[in-house]
Parts: sequence; C-alpha cells; structure tokens
Amino acid sequence: MDGSRIPQSPPVLILLGPPGAGKGTQARMMEEQFGLVQLSTGDLLRAAVASGSAAGKAAKSVMEAGGLVSDDIVLAILRDRMAMPDCAKGVILDGFPRTTAQAEALDVLLAETGQQINAAILLEVDDVKMVVRIAGRFTCGACGEGYHDTFKTPKVEGTCDVCGAQQMTRRADDNAKTVMSRLDAYHEQTAPLIAYYADKGVLRRVDAMREIAAIRDAIGALIKSVVA
Ligand code: AMP
Repeated sequence: MDGSRIPQSPPVLILLGPPGAGKGTQARMMEEQFGLVQLSTGDLLRAAVASGSAAGKAAKSVMEAGGLVSDDIVLAILRDRMAMPDCAKGVILDGFPRTTAQAEALDVLLAETGQQINAAILLEVDDVKMVVRIAGRFTCGACGEGYHDTFKTPKVEGTCDVCGAQQMTRRADDNAKTVMSRLDAYHEQTAPLIAYYADKGVLRRVDAMREIAAIRDAIGALIKSVVA
C-alpha cells in the first residue's frame, strides 16, 4: 500500500493547430476515450452568440470576419466553464489559447487550482489543404458529430450516423474567404504559442495530414505517455 502517494491533478491537454487541422474532431474522440472534457472556446462563443448575451453580441461580427474575439471575452467564458464540476475529470482545450496573453492567463488560472499542462499537442498540417477541408465540413446539429463532403460522409445522406437526426448544419464562418482570414489570424497571433510551449518543454507534434483514425491513435499514445 502506498498511502503517501500524492493524487495526480486533473490532466490539462491543449490542441494547437490552424483552423481545419482537426482539433474539434480529435478532441471529441479523446473526450470519449479518456473521459476528458472537451473545452472548445469556438463552441462556447457560438453558444454565446446564439443566446444573444452581451458577450455573444460583441463576438458575432468578429467571428463572421474570421478575426479573434477579445481576450477579455474569451477568458471570462473559459474561466466560467473551467469552474464547472465536470472539469475535475481533466480537460482538453480545443481552440484555446490562441494568443500569448491567453496562454499567460491560462498559466495563472492553472496555478490557482494547482494544475499544470501535461502537453500542448500541435496538429501539423499543410495550410493550403485546409481551405478544402474547411469548406466541405458540416456537423449534426443534434449531437455535434462532424462530417465532410469528401473525407467523412454520413452513411445515409443528411442523416447522422451517431444519433439518426436529420439536422446537418454548416458554420457561417466555414467559407473560403473567412478561412483565409482565420489562417492569417492563426499565423500572426497563435503560431507564436508553438515556441511558448516548446520553451516550457510540453510541446508535442503530430502529423495531422493522415487519416482521422491514424491521427487519433497517435494522439492517444501521446496522451497515455504524458498522463500518469
Ligand atoms: P473555432 O471553432 O475554434 O474555429 O473558432 C471559431 C471562431 O471563434 C474563431 O475564428 C474566432 O473568431 C473565435 N474564437 C474561438 N476561440 C477563440 C480564442 N481562444 N480567442 C479568440 N477568438 C476565438
């Protein structure tokens, strides 16, 4: 018996990579496989826009243009979500942090709760191909399962394989013009985080130009290696 063992704090994993790299798809699979909570600031912001809250109203036009929503709004939304009890299982951050200021704020937040980042997993992709990936994607509006016109079509057109609903939706910002702005925002404001997390010794790279299942297996093996 090892009564003196210090309990592990809940894992914190970050998925980094440009829009279209597959962060959302992979985060959902990791949620299922490891019992982690997927925290997507994009999803949280879209919910805020749909609810018509003050934060949602401020975020709407910025999101439609493919820019980054202000750190203040994003941090307030993330902080509230991370305080919810289910996050005690550990989290996989999808689309956050996106700026150095957000990364520093995350460090402060985690220090307050005695947590640390287990890994920042960079999904490495070919930018040019991201436009095709993004322009073809759609989602089940009922359960959130993601699909693609070319790479992952539902077995029955228009019907979700997972929940059977017929409510496929496409994101307003998944068009070629907005994607270019989102890629620019990534290179200017988010890519510096690669060096930020490399300096901390937590950066891990995954080739994300492969099949979804191969990427899932690579990320799964990596998570097992960093989460005791
Ligand atoms: P995503 O679903 O991660 O592709 O995010 C969709 C949009 O939400 C982005 O293009 C941004 O406008 C906004 N957004 C999501 N996460 C963040 C963040 N961490 N910081 C700033 N803006 C964000």
